[in-house]
Amino acid sequence: MKIVLIGIQGAGKSTQGSMLSEKYNIPYLSSGHIFREMAKEKTKLGRWLKELLNSGALVPDDTTLEVVLTYLKKPEYKDGFVLDGFPRTVAQAEAFNGSIDHVIYIDVSDKEALWRISGRVAEREDETLSAIRKRISLFHGVTTPVIEYYRQKGKLRSVDGEVSIEKVSDAIIAAIEA
Ligand code: AMP
Repeated sequence: MKIVLIGIQGAGKSTQGSMLSEKYNIPYLSSGHIFREMAKEKTKLGRWLKELLNSGALVPDDTTLEVVLTYLKKPEYKDGFVLDGFPRTVAQAEAFNGSIDHVIYIDVSDKEALWRISGRVAEREDETLSAIRKRISLFHGVTTPVIEYYRQKGKLRSVDGEVSIEKVSDAIIAAIEA
């Protein structure tokens, strides 16, 4: 089963992604995690990525596609995955012709997301308020059209992300198994 999770930072994608990974026995893959690991490398590419990530800007589509699609070719992703953070632009969605079974949009308001993120201890160097604001604004500008793209293809399911972790999980599983 191939699942894509879409939602703003703080929507609970990694929590839900890990739960789905366990339930359906498929690997969880986060494009943000891949980029954060790459940004640790003391190379020109690593330094460039680190600066991009810390600013909250998106990695350009060509780099993102090359990195993520190469990852997905690994044998462990052949039979399915839960993907968090990709595709994030319509160009990425169009280039990613993977046979996605379900696209789940976890709907959380900006206010709730900011509240959640500010209430947790920053675990990441790129979790500054300005980077978070930039990511939220890019989500509305660039990723909302991806939601529309999948809606038109009849693949999108939206769930309310402002209820308990268990309720969100139940709603996602109900959407997948409907
Ligand atoms: P995330 O953990 O999903 O919030 O991603 C952290 C950062 O990684 C983002 O702010 C972007 O700089 C980069 N990133 C992750 N996924 C993508 C993507 N699909 N397209 C472009 N940049 C991405």
